[in-house]
Amino acid sequence: MARTNRRWERAPVAFKDLRAFLKKIEAADTLVRVKKEVDFDQEISAAIIKAGAAALFCEKVKGYDIPVVANLFADRRKIELALALQTKNPIEEYLKRLEKLKPPRLVRDGPVKENIVTGNKLDIPAALPIPVVNEKDGGRYISSGIIVAKDPEYGYNLALHRLQIKGKNRAGIYMSELQHLHLYYKRAEERNEPLEIAVVIGCDPSLYLASVVTGPPDLDEYAVAGALRGAPVETVKCKTVDLMAPAHAEIVLEGKILPHKREPEGPFGEFSKYYGPQGNRPVVEFTALCHRDRPLYQTIYLGRRQRDNVFLTSLPKAADLYRAAKEVAPEVKDVYLTPGGCGRYHAVISMKKMFEGEPKLVLSVVLAHRIGVKHAIVVDEDIDIYDPHEVEWAMATRFQFDRDSFFLNDTPIHLDPSSAFKRKTGLLTSKLGMDATLPLDVAYPQVCDVSKEVMKKVEDNWQRYLEG
Ligand code: MN
Repeated sequence: MARTNRRWERAPVAFKDLRAFLKKIEAADTLVRVKKEVDFDQEISAAIIKAGAAALFCEKVKGYDIPVVANLFADRRKIELALALQTKNPIEEYLKRLEKLKPPRLVRDGPVKENIVTGNKLDIPAALPIPVVNEKDGGRYISSGIIVAKDPEYGYNLALHRLQIKGKNRAGIYMSELQHLHLYYKRAEERNEPLEIAVVIGCDPSLYLASVVTGPPDLDEYAVAGALRGAPVETVKCKTVDLMAPAHAEIVLEGKILPHKREPEGPFGEFSKYYGPQGNRPVVEFTALCHRDRPLYQTIYLGRRQRDNVFLTSLPKAADLYRAAKEVAPEVKDVYLTPGGCGRYHAVISMKKMFEGEPKLVLSVVLAHRIGVKHAIVVDEDIDIYDPHEVEWAMATRFQFDRDSFFLNDTPIHLDPSSAFKRKTGLLTSKLGMDATLPLDVAYPQVCDVSKEVMKKVEDNWQRYLEG
């Protein structure tokens, strides 16, 4: 076991930047290149949908000379490539890495500073091919911006927040009260100060994964990214704000969230695949645009046919649930947050049940977790939790609604459209736990299959069977 740990010490992932990761995807997976010019208004989104699970490179966007890349997290394979996860249980390996936080390393200079625009020359919508993501969005949105901020007590925070472009150097921002950036902003506002931010667009994938990790507010996501990639993130000092930004980022916007100012923001198509409504929300004023020579604009599509956002968030969230579930049931094997459940609302857990009732302990922990799982199902370890037909089969043949399920009523939830109809205030939802494991104490009909020996014989010699 110690040897496995050392292997990761010696062989860090450490993609230096987005470009290195793109090269890896092109070599080990699929990268679709769109050569025809596309419009930023929804046409990038349509191309992303058309590419399916393949990564996408739009070479020309009308009116811009910056290419757009997308779908870099469009399936589990790419998440595993991003972190060089190679074992049968990526969650275990991911959690192992997280144990060794690696703070960032400040360096004097980096490619992100190759071009810096400040002051009156700033015109962000003219400079960057920022998309209109969905038809009824309130405008052009940066959906792939990692917001870097610092609090005097809590330190650095990196998280994805949507930004609605509102002018040459202005944007609206959405922060849920459950998120750390909101806490940082409220604390700055109490001091009557703006909250300085840096917005990172396009970078090493470990930073994107770190930006969706849940944890305490003083968890430095730069150090999380360092842990995930197996080497510290190199950072540089920003030009106009007192923050560090990734030295190898493609694009960094610098600015501040203004105190005591609210303006309409939204609507915006969210991870739930519904538009989140317009509301009065905080405002960002930008002070600088920094980018590499020939930068790439990385985007994340959210909407009805989304993939990127779901798979980016599902591993860190599944790992959180796995850790919590394992505390009550050590023989929990794996956790999956399904794409149909928007990578958040539906959890499937596989386990080796040691005694009756144990799955209900697991379900209680999973449904209580602040990630916001609505429906959770526990299955035996012979079920492939990544195959929806297998999970459905377990439900169909190992589950009795009255005996094996329980509810939690009126519990808090994040952005669930159906919760709004429960009460005028919204935000409260019903949760359902389902135990679809086989009973231990009853002689159950056996699963039918051909013998392992015969199956192996045919599998190993399949070519000869075809040739006769
Ligand atoms: Mn945080």
